[in-house]
Amino acid sequence: MNTKDMKFETKVIHVGGEPDPVTGAIMPPIYQTSTYVQSSPGEHKGYEYTRSHNPTRTRLEECLASLENAKHCFVTASGLSASMLIMQMLPHGSKVLCGDDVYGGTYRLFSKVFNQMHDFEFVDTTDLVALEKKITESKPALIWLETPTNPMLKISDISAIAAMGKKVKALTVVDNTFMSPYFQNPLNLGADMVVHSMTKFINGHSDVVGGAMMFNSDELKEKIFFLQNAIGPSQSPFDSWLVLRGVKTLALRMKAHQANAMKIAQFLEKHPKVDKVIYPGLESHPQHAIAKKQMSGFGGMITFFLKGGINESRKFLESVHLFALAESLGGVESLIEHPAIMTHASIPADVRQKLGIHDNLIRLSVGVEDIDDLIKDLEIGFSKI
Ligand SMILES: *Cc1c(COP(=O)(O)O)cnc(C)c1O
Repeated sequence: MNTKDMKFETKVIHVGGEPDPVTGAIMPPIYQTSTYVQSSPGEHKGYEYTRSHNPTRTRLEECLASLENAKHCFVTASGLSASMLIMQMLPHGSKVLCGDDVYGGTYRLFSKVFNQMHDFEFVDTTDLVALEKKITESKPALIWLETPTNPMLKISDISAIAAMGKKVKALTVVDNTFMSPYFQNPLNLGADMVVHSMTKFINGHSDVVGGAMMFNSDELKEKIFFLQNAIGPSQSPFDSWLVLRGVKTLALRMKAHQANAMKIAQFLEKHPKVDKVIYPGLESHPQHAIAKKQMSGFGGMITFFLKGGINESRKFLESVHLFALAESLGGVESLIEHPAIMTHASIPADVRQKLGIHDNLIRLSVGVEDIDDLIKDLEIGFSKI
């Protein structure tokens, strides 16, 4: 069957998952090798050195490209190193418009490392009128969107913004980590590139750090391949193999994450000790309509505000146990964290306040455990405050 005709649930298992042609092994081998023997100088089977190419990585790239309906995919040693390659690709002094509520590490990479090279401006990408004015005036080379954002779960209209970008020949790049390719496909909506931290939902088992970028342009492929090889943030064969294994259950996991998250969001919304809940699947979400339009589901991430301050938050976080207190997200196990102290500490306090990342804000990455157990665990936390 042609890859393009396969449904998502089939692609995750079969694209890049073909049996080993030499032995028939149903699971592809891990090509844990740095180099490849040549029959004569310059004569080889397409593989010379693992920084540039590796067969296990190639399989993963084929699979992930198919999931985003992309022609090309590169996987990297971390999500941030994928973002780094994209920034390296721009000519020095480029103007970059970036969403104002992006992942803390992305903010740090752009504002403290690549600010030496490019001109970044952080803007609210949910305000389309202001954004269009900004795009027309500043003619950026690149627009960086994260949607939904982290941790405020703000949603930006990908097709509207990509169309604005096209008018000034700006590349629109979407960090699609939170939805995974299962719930959102930015290239179908007009974006030029998609970026993922594979560390999160794509791998889904909290045992790999990795990144991926997908796109259709052959010109971008040449540029990114050159930089990946010249700089060297390629993913190891073993980690690529682990992600190939993890991604097989992506569709199953995303359905389970979302079913649990929806129930927990509704539970929290009714809870007397909760001030406010942010979840794209709730009608109370300010961009619920755009969420329904551009996503096929609402994901497993929930942000909520406790009634209280830092002391209540600390007590709550110390009292839950199934929800493990840890940074990161997207694994099968439920995680809980405090963005102001943990993931978003690299964002200056005044910027955090402006974005609404207050001391009573708690972020959940809802896992795929039994829903009643998860709710019981949260009840224990509430009973302690
Ligand atoms: C984790 C994360 C990243 C960075 O990815 P790493 O794999 O940790 O380098 C980027 N964007 C989002 C939305 C993330 O959650």
